Amino acid sequence: MVYVHGPAYYAIALQVYLFVLAGCVLIGRSALHDDARRGQVVTILVGSVFPLVGGVLYVANPSLVGGLDLIPVSFFVTGLVFLAGIGFFRVFDLIPTARDALVEQMPDAVLVADAAGRIVDANPTAADWLGAAGPLGGRAIADVFAPWPDLCVTCPQEQPARAELTLRKDPLLHVDVRVTPVRASDGRPAGCFVVMRDITERYVAEVNMQRANERLEGDVRQIEALQSELREQAIRDSLTGLFNRRYLDEILPRELARTAHEGGLLSIVMIDIDHFKETNDLYGHREGDRLLATLGGVLRDGTRPGDAACRYGGEEFLLVLPGASPSVAKTRMEEVRAEYSSRLCAEGFSPPPTLSAGVAAFPEHAGSDDELLQAADGALYRAKAEGRDRVCVAGTTAPKGRPAR
Ligand code: GH3
Ligand code: MG
Ligand code: MG
Repeated sequence: MVYVHGPAYYAIALQVYLFVLAGCVLIGRSALHDDARRGQVVTILVGSVFPLVGGVLYVANPSLVGGLDLIPVSFFVTGLVFLAGIGFFRVFDLIPTARDALVEQMPDAVLVADAAGRIVDANPTAADWLGAAGPLGGRAIADVFAPWPDLCVTCPQEQPARAELTLRKDPLLHVDVRVTPVRASDGRPAGCFVVMRDITERYVAEVNMQRANERLEGDVRQIEALQSELREQAIRDSLTGLFNRRYLDEILPRELARTAHEGGLLSIVMIDIDHFKETNDLYGHREGDRLLATLGGVLRDGTRPGDAACRYGGEEFLLVLPGASPSVAKTRMEEVRAEYSSRLCAEGFSPPPTLSAGVAAFPEHAGSDDELLQAADGALYRAKAEGRDRVCVAGTTAPKGRPAR
C-alpha cells in the first residue's frame, strides 16, 4: 500500500513536535535551577530528543531511509535511555515533587550550603526571614548569618550546632536554629543544612515569665527588708535606740542557758538615773528625753559584740555581759558613768543627774534569769540606799524579793 501525507498530517505533526519542544524547554529550564536533579532531567531530555529528531527528519524527507518511518524506531531508543535513567537516576521517583512541596511550603526556613559554604538551596521562608534582597543562592552562608554572631556557621561544618536568635525586632521573630553537617557517601564533608523554626511565642512567654519572676524576687526582697525592719522596730526602743524589755526577755534565758552549757559566767548591770524626776522638773520632760537618748548612745557605744544594752523601763537600763565577771562588769559600768557624765556636761546638763547601778552575776548570785534580775535589783537598791551615784555588786546574801526603792 502506497500512501501520501496530506496537509492535515503536517498540521498535526507540527502541533505534536511543538508540544514536545515546549516540554523539552520546560524540563531543560528546571535542570538549570536544580543541581540535585540534573541527572534525572538530562536523561528525560536526551530521551525526548530522539523522537523529535526522528520525527523532524521523517517529516522533512519521508524517503530518507527508504521510506522507513523513523518515529517508532526513535521511540525504541527513547525507551532504552529511560530504562537506563530508571536504573541510574531514579528518573520517575516521586521524591523531587514531594521535596518541592514540603520544603517550598514549610513554615520553617531551610538553607543548604555546599562544602565551600555557598548556599545552594534556600526555601522562600528562609529568604523572607533573612531579609535577603536578592536570591540567597550562591552567597556565602557565613556572610548571610554575619549579623548574628551568636551563631557560627562554618562550612564544612564538623559538628551539629544549635542556637536561638532574634532575627527581627519588629515584629519580633525569634528562631531556634539547627546547623547539621552533611557528609557525602564516602564520608567527606559535603556541606551543611540549616533549619530555623519560629519559636517567638514560646520565647515571649519565657521572657514574660522571667520578668514576672524578677518582679516577684524584688517583692520578696522588699518583704524581707520590711520584715527585718519590723523585727527591728519590735525589739528596739525608739527613744534610745537600745533593745527593749521584750528583747531582753527573749535573750536573757537563752544567754543563761548557753552560759550554763558552756560552763562560763554572765554578769548583768541594772542602771537607774538618780532623781530623774527632779531633772524632768528642772529641765522639762523634753530635755529629760534628750538626756535618756544620750545615755542610750553612751551605752550603745560601750557595748561590745556579744553584749546587749536594753532600756529596761522609764529611766532604768540593763546591760547583759556574757563572759564578764562582776568586777569586770563593775569596771565597765564605771567607764559608762564617766563617759555619761562628760557627754551630758558637754550637752549643757550641769551638773547631770548621777547614775546608780547594781551588778549581779550568774551563777555566782543567781541560778535563773528571774533570780539574776532580782539580785541586780537588790544591788541597785543598796547603791541607792548607800547614797546613790555608785555601783554595787550583789552579795551572796542578796536580799530575796524585790526591795521597795
Ligand atoms: P531615784 O533616784 O530614786 O531613782 O529617783 P527618781 O526620780 O529617778 O525615781 P522615780 O521612780 O521617782 O522617778 C522616775 C522618773 O523618771 C519619773 C518619770 O517622770 C521619769 N521618766 C520615766 N520615763 C521617762 C521618759 O521616757 N522620759 C522622761 N523625760 N522621763 C521619764
Ligand atoms: Mg527608777
Ligand atoms: Mg531613778
